Amino acid sequence: MEDFISKFRGLGFKLTPQRIAILTFLDGNTGHPTAEEIFAAVRQEYPTVSFATVYNTLQALSDRGQLTEVTIDPERKHFDPNTDPHHHAMCSECEKIVDVFVDYSETLSLPDTVSGEFNVTGNHVEFYGVCGDCAE
Ligand SMILES: [Zn+2]
Ligand SMILES: [Zn+2]
Repeated sequence: MEDFISKFRGLGFKLTPQRIAILTFLDGNTGHPTAEEIFAAVRQEYPTVSFATVYNTLQALSDRGQLTEVTIDPERKHFDPNTDPHHHAMCSECEKIVDVFVDYSETLSLPDTVSGEFNVTGNHVEFYGVCGDCAE
């Protein structure tokens, strides 16, 4: 946990207690929380924290490439502290988002009509379905 937080010391961040609480909540978090969920969690410890503080911190982390914005959910943006390239699957019932660590670079390719127009530098595959819990 200390490692995750010390990572941000070098980014020109002023580490306020509220920001440390945000970072601590995000550290190793695989639940892809929304800004609202992060706000709710931090507010339990720091009742005076504002949504703007949480949102601005998330934005600053994202701008510096330390946080992935997951856009699989058309309703709201989710955040992922894991910045390694990966894909996502979302349950359409409970809206759970699961990580998919498979490199599709070898199998995914653009048709010739498009590939001549630009170089591919990355990809993100979004899977939609119903998770095992909801299928029961
Ligand atoms: Zn589900
Ligand atoms: Zn993820």
